Amino acid sequence: MVKRGSILIALLVAPAAFGGSWTVCVTDTSTLLTPPVRGAVTREFHSLMGGHRAGLAFDKCAKGGPKIHLLIKDEPPNGLEGVLGLARRKRDRIEPQLQVFYGSLVRYLGEPNSAEAIGRAVARVAAHEAVHFLEQQPHHCQRGLLQAMMSAYELLAADPAPFHFDPQCAPDPAEGQAATETLANAAIP
Ligand SMILES: [Zn+2]
Repeated sequence: MVKRGSILIALLVAPAAFGGSWTVCVTDTSTLLTPPVRGAVTREFHSLMGGHRAGLAFDKCAKGGPKIHLLIKDEPPNGLEGVLGLARRKRDRIEPQLQVFYGSLVRYLGEPNSAEAIGRAVARVAAHEAVHFLEQQPHHCQRGLLQAMMSAYELLAADPAPFHFDPQCAPDPAEGQAATETLANAAIP
């Protein structure tokens, strides 16, 4: 089941990819993010992922170099209501195709929030999904960027400490074996 405020992620194992320099190319076709929010997303994503050699660019992506595509949409697909982000898999590999659902996220965060705070939250959901791909890691951790549960308060807060990524993180025991099947749901209630 997918709960409100969850991040849905699709699975499985393949080569880790943190060795390269990746660009997350953001497509925001409905212009859901205002320029100030975009600025905040870019700053926070760089803060979280710069050390992992992954950057982020809106709408136009520089040619060359490996790319991850991130689509900003208003709502998740039918049946996945309340999901904040998504990374899909194809067969046994997590694809560089990510989505963040802005409408779901804003409702989850509550209003009003500053552009800076909303941008941080968007970046943190995007970074979570990006790490699933970059590490080809379908599972979640007890703490850090890949933790399954993040509060609205944490997503909005200026303090980035809860979103540190530890490649050697302790697996989330709540996830269980079911997460290795088809779809894993990373709840962020
Ligand atoms: Zn996840």
